[in-house]
Amino acid sequence: MEHYADVVVLGGGIAGSCMAKALADRQWETTLIDRQTFPRHKVCGEFLSPEAQSTLHALGLTETVTALHPQRIERVRLIFEHSGEIELPIPGAAWGLSRYAMDEALHSAAMRAGAQLHLSTTVTGIEQRGKGYTVRTKQGANTSLFHARAVIAAWGANSRVAHTGHRPNAAASGQEAYIGVKTHYDGLTMEPVIEMYFFRGGYLGLCPIEDGRVNAAALLSRSEFAKAGKSVLSILEAAVQRNRRLTARLADAVPSPGTQAAIAPVYLQRKPAPWDGFPRLGDAAAMIAPLCGDGMSMALRSAALCAPLADSYLNGHLSLREWERQFTDAIHREFAGPLHWGSLLQWLLSKPAIAQLLPGAARIAPALANGLVRATRLKPYEPVEYRSWNH
Ligand SMILES: Cc1cc2nc3c(=O)[nH]c(=O)nc-3n(C[C@H](O)[C@H](O)[C@H](O)COP(=O)(O)OP(=O)(O)OC[C@H]3O[C@@H](n4cnc5c(N)ncnc54)[C@H](O)[C@@H]3O)c2cc1C
Repeated sequence: MEHYADVVVLGGGIAGSCMAKALADRQWETTLIDRQTFPRHKVCGEFLSPEAQSTLHALGLTETVTALHPQRIERVRLIFEHSGEIELPIPGAAWGLSRYAMDEALHSAAMRAGAQLHLSTTVTGIEQRGKGYTVRTKQGANTSLFHARAVIAAWGANSRVAHTGHRPNAAASGQEAYIGVKTHYDGLTMEPVIEMYFFRGGYLGLCPIEDGRVNAAALLSRSEFAKAGKSVLSILEAAVQRNRRLTARLADAVPSPGTQAAIAPVYLQRKPAPWDGFPRLGDAAAMIAPLCGDGMSMALRSAALCAPLADSYLNGHLSLREWERQFTDAIHREFAGPLHWGSLLQWLLSKPAIAQLLPGAARIAPALANGLVRATRLKPYEPVEYRSWNH
C-alpha cells in the first residue's frame, strides 16, 4: 500500500508525538508511525522535570498533560547504601506521570490537530528520492510505502533503520552497557519527593505518579546483574537487595500486574547526532544520563526547536542544508551544558568511593550541590528567531 504526506515522523514517543502535533497545527499533512501498540508501559522514571513545563506550554500541551492529574513533586532525596542521604529542593515543581497515560494522551493531541497515526507499524528503511523520501514499513506480513517531502526521526535510542545518507554514529564498543527495568507499585505511601536509591552496579528511583501509584525504574550495569534472572521482577528484586533501606522501603509494596517493562542495552556515552540525512529528535539526537530526569524535557525541547524550521523548509523558505545547520546549532547550544554536567553527575554517583563522601560534602557546601544539579537542567523555553535563507 502507498501513502502520501507532507511529512512523516518516525517514532511516536514523546518527541515524535509532539513534533507531529506541532506540524499538524501548522496545517501540514503529517503522518506519525510507531512500531508498538499504545497505551504501553515504558522504562522511564516518569519524572517530568519543571523545565518540561515551559516547552509543553509552547507546544500547546499543558492542558493535555494536566488533565491526567500528574502528581506534584517538590524535592529529590538521594539515598546511599552506606553513607546517609542528601535532600535537595526542586526549583519549581516537577510532575510524576506514567508514560502509559502520557504517551497515549500525546497521540490523541496529535490526532486532534489532524495527524494520521499508524501504530504496530515498524519502519524498516528510508530512501531519499529527488527532493523527497520514501519510508518503508512493515505491519505483520504487510509492507507499505510512505512518500513525503520531509522525514523526522524520533525513534528513541535503540532503533536501527537502514537509510541512504546515513552517517554511522560513534561506536558504542568498549562502553559499559546498562539495562533499564520498571514496574508500578501499589500500597506505597510517598511524600511529594522522588527517592533515588544508589547501590553497587546501579540505582533505582521511586516516583509518585497519578492515582496514588508509585513508579520504580532502575538503571543497572548489565555485567553486575547478569545472573539476576530473566524476568523484570527478579532483576528488580536483585537490585532492591543491594540497598538495605530500599529493601525495607519496599517490604509491603505490591507490583501492579502488567506494568513491568525492560530495555537493553542502554549506553550513556553517545555523541549528540541531531542530523543524519534528516533531523533526529529526543533520544535519537542526544541522551542525557537518565538520573538527571531530563530526557523527556529534552525530547520536548528538540521538537519545539525543530518544528519552526520544518515549517520553513516545507514552505520553501529554508534549504535542507540550512535546516540542518540551524537545527544542529540549536541542539548543541541548548543541550551541550546539561549533557556535560549530567555525565559528570552520573560518574560521581556511580563510584561508591566518591558517592559515600557526597552527603558530607552536600552538608558543607549545599550551594555547590544545588549548583551541580542546576547545571544539568535545560533553561526555560524561549522561542528562537530562525533565519530563512532569503533574508
Ligand atoms: C531507566 C531510565 C529512567 C529514565 N527516567 C527518566 C525520568 O524520570 N525523566 C525523564 O525525563 N526521562 C527519563 N528517562 C529518559 C526518557 O525515557 C527518554 O529520554 C524519553 O523517553 C525520550 O523520548 P523519545 O520520544 O526521544 O523516545 P521514546 O520515548 O523512546 O520513543 C521512541 C518511539 O519510537 C518507536 N520506534 C523505535 N524504532 C522504531 C521503528 N523502527 N519503527 C517505528 N517506531 C519505532 C518506539 O516504539 C518508541 O515508541 C529515563 C530513561 C531510562 C532508560
